[in-house]
Amino acid sequence: MSIAANLARVKERITAAALRSGRSPESVKVVGVTKTVELPQVELAVQAGLEILGENYVQEAREKIQRFHGRVHWHFIGRLQSNKAKHAVRLFDLVHTVDSLRLAEELDRRAGAIGLTVPVLIQVNLAAEATKGGVRLEEVSVLVERAAGLDHLRIRGLMTMPPYFDDPERARPYFRRLRELSEKIAALGFPGVEMSELSMGMSGDFEAAVEEGATLVRVGTAIFGARP
Ligand SMILES: *Cc1c(COP(=O)(O)O)cnc(C)c1O
Repeated sequence: MSIAANLARVKERITAAALRSGRSPESVKVVGVTKTVELPQVELAVQAGLEILGENYVQEAREKIQRFHGRVHWHFIGRLQSNKAKHAVRLFDLVHTVDSLRLAEELDRRAGAIGLTVPVLIQVNLAAEATKGGVRLEEVSVLVERAAGLDHLRIRGLMTMPPYFDDPERARPYFRRLRELSEKIAALGFPGVEMSELSMGMSGDFEAAVEEGATLVRVGTAIFGARP
């Protein structure tokens, strides 16, 4: 199938999942994950209506961002090293992967230095997997509270990547837990903190994520095909 057809199919599946769970399909956006995808393929997806692109590596993103400047929004979804924070605040509209106060402070400092505020999500490692980024569940509210005090950082919600399962139903409890956590944090009412975005769900499980409240689904393979 073509990239345009793949994207159309992903959007149809999102719409169906949203309607099944009584949500508005417009409340869910696709972040097209373009790591390792070549520019012509990205171009096809953008022409087919993809509006948000997600990148895992700052270096790889730069070339693409120049090429598509102004036509799409860019989200950073990879592990962000502090020494790349300076570039990230200039290049990306949303950083999904803040998981330490140190990184939050560095983004704040770098954004402040160029007169910007940087919108971020807090990445949560719900299963406490050693190989994955993300703050542990029990540390989330402390991190949010501290990062909420940073003038040039805006917390907009949460992101998670559950353990890998063949069966998306097994990922569902993690999606539900992230939504419950975001409701809990919203109720704490930290000044300036919004819990409006939930970034969860990938090619194998985005429908379950939408049914559990995802507002941003990060989809690579189902749009662009398998990565090398
Ligand atoms: C690669 C990646 C995705 C997309 O994964 P697919 O299974 O190809 O849809 C989503 N989120 C993150 C953080 C990724 O690194």
